[in-house]
Amino acid sequence: MRLAPKKSLGQNFLLNKNIIKQIVEVGNITNQSTVIEIGPGTGNLTEEILKKKPKNFFAIEKDKKLYLNLQNKYNKRIDIINKDVLDIKWNYFEKQNMLVFGNLPYNISAKLLIEWIKLNNLNFLFKRFVLMFQKEVADRIVASVNSSKYGRLTILNDWKMSAEKIMDIDPENFFPKPKVKSSLVYFQPKSNIFNLKDSKSLEKVTNIFFQNKRKMIKKPLNILFKNSKEITNKLNLDENCRPQNIKPLIYFKIAKELEKDF
Ligand code: SAH
Repeated sequence: MRLAPKKSLGQNFLLNKNIIKQIVEVGNITNQSTVIEIGPGTGNLTEEILKKKPKNFFAIEKDKKLYLNLQNKYNKRIDIINKDVLDIKWNYFEKQNMLVFGNLPYNISAKLLIEWIKLNNLNFLFKRFVLMFQKEVADRIVASVNSSKYGRLTILNDWKMSAEKIMDIDPENFFPKPKVKSSLVYFQPKSNIFNLKDSKSLEKVTNIFFQNKRKMIKKPLNILFKNSKEITNKLNLDENCRPQNIKPLIYFKIAKELEKDF
């Protein structure tokens, strides 16, 4: 069956077999693994994942036609779910240490990442993630402090996950060709995370700091704290440096101070 790709669902199917193989290798699937594939589409990655014989295999596909097609093809071998992944409750699977694969629409990958970071049992539910992003977004996730791409996404991600870029992928490897380059990113939930009540304080701190990343940090500190001088001294901050020069750990500490005011 030939299916016309739907732009609205970000359907760019990955055709390069070598890249597909590499993606699956990175995930390190064993016969004990529970795998979740998001947006299996026509089954390009699915087929390769099946070869690794995971113990449990769930796939989440929003497109009804593609879903039916996959049901026909894989019937009992995969548990295929016809849902929008953004509506999935991750506790539903009643599994832990899950491996997630997704060559997804770009906007969905970024939304999901933030959603996962907000889970308080992330490290329990998931073992690793292998996800495709728009290159520009991937570069922001894995950026180092003091670099131009370093920012909110880097810091928020670093609170809960370690991330590593595996490779950049040119548009020619997909059909239809996307307009921008893609990158594959590998994530592992951290087992020891800096203790914050939730993500709200960190989101607020990074939002305010990165509203104007060229300005010195004195201003955002004054916006956030009445006693900003005290905080500056306590955390040994240099008021004259810029948001991009501050390590994630310091942002976590600033967020912790803010939580005391909540
Ligand atoms: N993984 C396949 C398909 C990539 S295209 C491949 O590499 O070839 C992206 C897939 O995600 C499509 O199948 C699309 O229908 C699906 N998709 C898009 N938005 C989705 C959503 N919100 N929830 C679940 N699946 C979605």
